Amino acid sequence: MVRTITHWINGESVEPHGGGYLPGLNPANGQEGPSVARGQASDVAAAVAAAKAAAPGWRHFKTASRGRLLYELAGAIRQNAEHLADIESEDTGKPRKQALGEIESSAAYFEFYAGLVNLPAGETLNVEPGQHVYTIQEPFGVVGIITPWNGPLNQAARACAPALAAANTVVIKPAEVATQSTVRLAQLATEVGFPPGVFNVVLGKGTEAGSALVEHGDVRKIAFTGSVATGRAIGHIAADRIIPLSLELGGKSANIVFDDADLDFAASEAVRAFTSNAGQVCSAGTRLLVQRSIYEAFVAKVAELSGNVIPGSDYGPMITREQFAQVKSYFEVAAAEGLVPLTGGSAVDQGELAKGFYVNPTIYKDVKNSQRMAQEEIFGPVLVAMPFDSEEEAITISNDSEFGLVAGVWTQNVSRAIRVAESIEAGQVFVNTWSTGAVEAPFGGHKNSGYGREKGIEALRHYTHVKCITIKL
Ligand code: ADP
Repeated sequence: MVRTITHWINGESVEPHGGGYLPGLNPANGQEGPSVARGQASDVAAAVAAAKAAAPGWRHFKTASRGRLLYELAGAIRQNAEHLADIESEDTGKPRKQALGEIESSAAYFEFYAGLVNLPAGETLNVEPGQHVYTIQEPFGVVGIITPWNGPLNQAARACAPALAAANTVVIKPAEVATQSTVRLAQLATEVGFPPGVFNVVLGKGTEAGSALVEHGDVRKIAFTGSVATGRAIGHIAADRIIPLSLELGGKSANIVFDDADLDFAASEAVRAFTSNAGQVCSAGTRLLVQRSIYEAFVAKVAELSGNVIPGSDYGPMITREQFAQVKSYFEVAAAEGLVPLTGGSAVDQGELAKGFYVNPTIYKDVKNSQRMAQEEIFGPVLVAMPFDSEEEAITISNDSEFGLVAGVWTQNVSRAIRVAESIEAGQVFVNTWSTGAVEAPFGGHKNSGYGREKGIEALRHYTHVKCITIKL
């Protein structure tokens, strides 16, 4: 019998109102996965009602106790890491070791924000004698969170931890193809003592449950991570409803290597930057810009090292049949643009993995930045490499993109590192590393990569708004 995954509303498991379920598919072997509740507007309404009812109590919960619950949830995630890794791997096909890493960082989000429940602090304003003027940071109330499938638990934790720390209640809708870990997270929250209704999960399709959540009149803020097209559609609704929105969208991030860099380390990080999670990462480093004097040798080194990355053990499959088809379609785009893969350019078509949606690490060189392969987000393990001559040219190429999420700069020259880092249009720049890991470091984009920030103390500013109180003495 096929297992079913249901909503988690008001501290309990809830069947979908219409009784409908979406079929599940295991991307690692093409076999049937658990079915997922197909939530509709009525399911969303039930979850939002629970969150709204819980909001005043959560807001006035003793601050230290709220922090302790977040901390205990971090502990529960760690205690349940093995099971969470199993279900994360089942939904996404990602290797268990990678899933375990993401589960640890999910715990880290709750741990970090557990200590920040008193932030952001208000201010006392020096206005004039006879007046006492001060600000407080208030929660919005019910926050709607919509997450994608590439790091399901991680993205749920990244958004829910600061939202809850700032005393909001949440209704989260994970991507319909990877729901299990988010539901388990909400169950764990209930088990450690979060009051019913503080943490709710509604499952279903984006165009049904997702849009109903954005449109619900009692949802006072939306945090969305996903595609540009969906972010834009949600933005229209948020504009009509006049509610704040944070968007974490796509990327086509440049990794810029100067000839004075530690080239061995730069090459191994360049491989990690485009192959992590099979390239299904918004902050993947998918454009490799290399100074011309070292271009041929460096790109050859990256291609050689990418041969050590083994689909199935180092990364998982494309998440869905559609995503698999989309990545393969870019091999045809490349061919039409006159590009020949230096390595890869194919799906895995031998052995057991051929039953799943696996793609080989793929590199194209001598790509022009104006070509589609250099402009469009592919969301697969596909790298395009191109040479540059000067620092100015590297910056120009890097910024010639609709996106601006992250970038890498490799050089031993500290002045150049700072000049380039500060000239790049991106929300995060990594110098002599490729890392997006730190919970403390604000993360988000410029241009079509979105606005608002996740992570760090900065995220709390997006889950609160300011009230100014003036008292005449
Ligand atoms: P991806 O291409 O990464 O799947 P999407 O933007 O389609 O990105 O999906 C990200 C999340 O947004 C998922 O949870 C999905 O169900 C949801 N979603 C998709 N379309 C809509 C929509 N119109 N309104 C609200 N949520 C949506």
